[in-house]
Amino acid sequence: MIATQCELCNREGVKTTVHHLVPREMGGNYGAKAHLCIPCHKQIHALYTNEQLAKDLFTIEALQDEEKMKKYIKWIKKQSPTALPKHKKSNQVKRRR
Ligand SMILES: [Zn+2]
Ligand SMILES: [Zn+2]
Repeated sequence: MIATQCELCNREGVKTTVHHLVPREMGGNYGAKAHLCIPCHKQIHALYTNEQLAKDLFTIEALQDEEKMKKYIKWIKKQSPTALPKHKKSNQVKRRR
């Protein structure tokens, strides 16, 4: 079994993706990388531009210290590692006998 842990929210048992701490578009192709779970990765790119990431948020510590990320990390830690945002439809499907 491969241990998978997100470097940002520190949850274990998550699927991780590689985040370039300095975005590739900003010359970070050979720079440091971090393994992040999918929600964390999405969150970072939703909140910050590549310029901000390259300039101010190019370490995990800086990201964890960022005000908006702090709130997010608090929230994500309570979520199940296997839960991915998905459409729920079970409640809408009526069962017939
Ligand atoms: Zn995470
Ligand atoms: Zn990324």
